[in-house]
Amino acid sequence: MATDQKVRGSIPLGRAIILTAKTEKLVYMISYHEKWMEQAFLEAEKAYQKKEVPIGAVIVFEEKVIGRGHNLVETLQDPTAHAEMLAITAAANYLGTWRLNNTCLYVTLEPCPMCAGAILNSRIPNLVFGAYDKKFGACGSVTDAFAGNGLHHSITQQAGVLQPKCEAILKDFFKKIRLNSSDVSLN
Ligand SMILES: [Zn+2]
Repeated sequence: MATDQKVRGSIPLGRAIILTAKTEKLVYMISYHEKWMEQAFLEAEKAYQKKEVPIGAVIVFEEKVIGRGHNLVETLQDPTAHAEMLAITAAANYLGTWRLNNTCLYVTLEPCPMCAGAILNSRIPNLVFGAYDKKFGACGSVTDAFAGNGLHHSITQQAGVLQPKCEAILKDFFKKIRLNSSDVSLN
């Protein structure tokens, strides 16, 4: 008891309050983003079931998912059928405009250069992604499409939300591909 009181007494009260408020805000933001990233993850699972590289995306507007997509490159034999591209098209159809103002894109893997370009073109202001893509990532890993792009709007970015889960499904997928390489052809 005496030791506990001594430790508590050693922290200046004001500092303790500031730390608590910051931590609470951080915890709130993380759990908020995780909620929507879970929805993107469900899309990644759909891709997995179709033997597509398991990447999923959702676009959130006014606390609602208005566009969903999962990777369908093999199914459609379309190199542009990335999760983000399909989610962006669905969201634009929903809103009836190509300007996706006040939306947030959640995607399980860091966007590639094509998808980063589509994010810029659709004016999406917020991006949250799960795993980093060390090969094709255009949001900091290999290149940064949003840095100094000279465009009219800025993009807020949060990386690493549900990262272990988003990484694990990809690793599991590629492990299975290696075991049964005749099943699906990848680049
Ligand atoms: Zn992409």
